[in-house]
Amino acid sequence: MQDTWILDRNLTHWPTFINIQNNQYLLLNSFISNGCWDIEKLNTVFSKHLVKLILKIPIWNNREADSVVLKTKFSGKSITALAYEASLNHKEEVVHWKWFKKLKLKPKIEFFWWRLCYDAIPSNTFLFKRKLSNCSGCPRGCGEDEDNNHLVGSCSKIKKVIDLLNGWGFKMPRFHDFEDCLESLKNDVGTNLLFGNIFCNMVFLVWKSRCKFIHDKYEDSDNYIAANAISFAVRSNFIHLQSENWGANQLLLNSTWHPPPTGWIKINIDAALKRNHLAGMGGVIRDDKGRFLMAFGNKSLHWDISHLELMAVLDLKKLVKDWMMEAQGVIVEGDNLNIIKLLNNAVKEWKVSKNIDENLAFLLEFKQVVFSHSLRNGNKLADICANLALVRSFLWEDLHDAMIPPSFLYCLKEECDALGLL
Ligand SMILES: [Zn+2]
Repeated sequence: MQDTWILDRNLTHWPTFINIQNNQYLLLNSFISNGCWDIEKLNTVFSKHLVKLILKIPIWNNREADSVVLKTKFSGKSITALAYEASLNHKEEVVHWKWFKKLKLKPKIEFFWWRLCYDAIPSNTFLFKRKLSNCSGCPRGCGEDEDNNHLVGSCSKIKKVIDLLNGWGFKMPRFHDFEDCLESLKNDVGTNLLFGNIFCNMVFLVWKSRCKFIHDKYEDSDNYIAANAISFAVRSNFIHLQSENWGANQLLLNSTWHPPPTGWIKINIDAALKRNHLAGMGGVIRDDKGRFLMAFGNKSLHWDISHLELMAVLDLKKLVKDWMMEAQGVIVEGDNLNIIKLLNNAVKEWKVSKNIDENLAFLLEFKQVVFSHSLRNGNKLADICANLALVRSFLWEDLHDAMIPPSFLYCLKEECDALGLL
């Protein structure tokens, strides 16, 4: 009576009458004789319809004992089978998250993305579907549903921040589809961790800003979001985590000069070598508006161009000023990929063993450092400095310096004009 064996209810819950006179202690097997339903006996206890139903229940005589199955899930699978299946599903989730973990996001940002993947962000579209909001559109007035596709790419705010990041030389992709975005992030894991990290930070910060807008009626500026997206990435990668992502990263590979993020400075370095072993190393430091801060050049004798470029970085040590320490971050950019890799490895070594070549230790005094590789065209001004250094060493801290040749000023102006900043 209490067991569920006819459809999904036990007999006490069936809307039917059962003749239980003298049959109070009948067991199910008393209706079975010789491995078949005993129709006669069934008819004495159950109504016609119920007997019909019971006769449809197959009897497996070769089975040893009944096993427990879920009564509302007619999958025909045992609990064990269902549990195993669930564990496999879970594994898929874990695999999905394995690559996400490699992006080395801050925990709260990783959690945000986890919620995005599982459609658990309380966006207007989410609330609308659950009848908790009257409007499913983006609160910024984009005129689109505020779904995942919108949150990772289509929103006007995201587009503006991406424009800004691209203006600083970070080649950020634009997505219109959430799945495309995940696919691209997955690819970044192998090649461009920094890229993926900055992108994820940006989407998170744009969402935070949107929440501020809802509650406090003001938003974070595009500049603030873009600069923080980079800062978060650099802090979590440079200070605490491994840095192989910096090593081969080509993301800052630019064919034109790009200014650094707001509050940062960029140092372009280069070296020049003549056949007679006369060598010049030079560099130029500019701010986020492309404004000149300092330029230097050192004359030397050498025969290895790569080593010279490294020396240009080492020369910085002698030039470090307080205002450089004040900057939010420093981007050291050169067109020699091997040197950029070498610098990355030095920093990586420092993070693992806390040992760093004492000649490079000064780099740790900056708030944040990013080493970036640019194409020659993005490094023109440093190239001019290196070539000028073939003649004599120099240090310019003011554009009014009479020693600055017109070729340098012309290139500086040209690169600034290209940014639309002057
Ligand atoms: Zn929007």
